[in-house]
Amino acid sequence: MTDGEALGGESEALRFDGDVATVRDALVSWYEADHRAFPWRETDDPYEILVSEVMSQQTQLDRVVDAWRDFLDRWPTIETLAAADRAAVVAFWSDHSLGYNNRAKYLHEAAQQVVGDYDGAFPRTPERLSELMGVGPYTANAVASFAFNNGDAVVDTNVKRVLYRAFDVDDDDSTFESAASELMPEGESRIWNNAIMELGGVACGKTPRCDEAGCPWREWCHAYQTGDFTAPDVPTQPSFEGSRRQFRGRIVRLLGEYDGMDLDALGHRIRVDYTPDGEHGREWLRGLLADLADDGLVDVEETEDGTVTRLRR
Ligand code: SF4
Repeated sequence: MTDGEALGGESEALRFDGDVATVRDALVSWYEADHRAFPWRETDDPYEILVSEVMSQQTQLDRVVDAWRDFLDRWPTIETLAAADRAAVVAFWSDHSLGYNNRAKYLHEAAQQVVGDYDGAFPRTPERLSELMGVGPYTANAVASFAFNNGDAVVDTNVKRVLYRAFDVDDDDSTFESAASELMPEGESRIWNNAIMELGGVACGKTPRCDEAGCPWREWCHAYQTGDFTAPDVPTQPSFEGSRRQFRGRIVRLLGEYDGMDLDALGHRIRVDYTPDGEHGREWLRGLLADLADDGLVDVEETEDGTVTRLRR
């Protein structure tokens, strides 16, 4: 497959040069190695997850943690919430600055629906979950994914930004949905949605942190290779330490096309003013390669004929 060609010849949505299974594994391994430890990621209780999702709609995640714990201390089960006085739930919401009080009312009403209509057992599909009061398609899918591993691929602003930058997905809602679904491994919505949202949250934010966050998709990422980090919600190029990042991206892209390159050949290909002994010469290039080697992306081999670099496989 060549650069820009569709995945497996079947997809119009994702454009990248690689094997989709490898791309998936890279993200899941990155997520499993380290991620923010939000307590609702440690549970598969649909009630606890619903509360976290409703609270997160308008409040920063770090601030949600205490409110979520307090809420569950006070109403530990869906039954206790359903039996609560609505005014008490609304008062809790305002006391914790959780945004629109309507969300508290809807959450209370949803609890009564689950207890009254489903005997306390949450429905398990996004479609049925979205029939609960105040539960829109996004929240329904999140609960289906995180509680029951039974959701579709999440497509929120963060995920769109990641897909747009990494796989050059067109800025169009239905194309984003197709791309996200193709990328998600079948039946893995819990880990996959957590992982791609984490990537959008800690690595591929409006100001990307590709290297600092050890983004597992640099090898395939269109933005990383071209240096264009604009996105649907980032219309102008974000300001960051762009130059070294761009050159690292160019190195990764070039090495992807060759089975090893000589140091100077690589230097001449990535910048026109490369001069082996000059300011932007071997020493500068070795610095970039050392960073990429530390990140596990390239290997640098000293041979009798010189220095050979290649992508690490
Ligand atoms: S390499 Fe950078 S721009 Fe590309 S997906 Fe990773 S964090 Fe986003």
